[in-house]
Amino acid sequence: MTTQVVLASRNPGKAEELRRILADCGLPVEVLGAEVFADLPDIPETGASFAENSKIKAEAVARHTGLIAIADDSGLAVDALNGMPGILSARWAGKAASDQRNLDLVLEQVADVSDDRRGAAFCCAASAARIGPADNASFLVSEAEIRGRLLRERRGDHGFGYDPIFLPDGYDLTTAQMSSEAKDRISHRGQALSALAIELESWLV
Ligand code: IMP
Repeated sequence: MTTQVVLASRNPGKAEELRRILADCGLPVEVLGAEVFADLPDIPETGASFAENSKIKAEAVARHTGLIAIADDSGLAVDALNGMPGILSARWAGKAASDQRNLDLVLEQVADVSDDRRGAAFCCAASAARIGPADNASFLVSEAEIRGRLLRERRGDHGFGYDPIFLPDGYDLTTAQMSSEAKDRISHRGQALSALAIELESWLV
């Protein structure tokens, strides 16, 4: 029997990635994108961590749809900025700031940081939520990160966000110079979602 799960994101790229990962694990699930539910409310990210935010989003969508919902929350944690922008990565230069402005601000903030202190990580928490008969929510949560360092100039034009300045440890290419498949294989989101997919199996039997 196939179980429907809904991804709590309107980003079609993320839905595709999740479909690929779940298919690789051989799980009998059909992944619906959030766009299938036209009346889904906007969910404010009020948590203090990636994990909290992913749980808030997954629970809201599970309550709204009655299905198992999967959400992720991710960002860039820069060592020299004490882990910031972190959960504020998408709006680091202001609420409506573009990826380009957010990236420029981070570059400016670490301009005087020496090469040996430019470590950073892309972090991701992925959560699945389901609502029980007594209206209680239960969760599966998985977190992953990929370490690297920040370049001083952009390289590559794939990907999004901070990809053009993020060089993963052990690679000569930024994540913006990798194909999306190559990035998925090593990325924080790919790893968090793959681990979540394995745990999800226990909810499907
Ligand atoms: P969200 O989890 O989709 O809300 O993403 C948060 C923000 O973190 C994005 O807008 C990007 O700025 C940044 N971010 C998260 N993952 C990545 C990535 O894989 N590459 C580049 N930037 C990322």
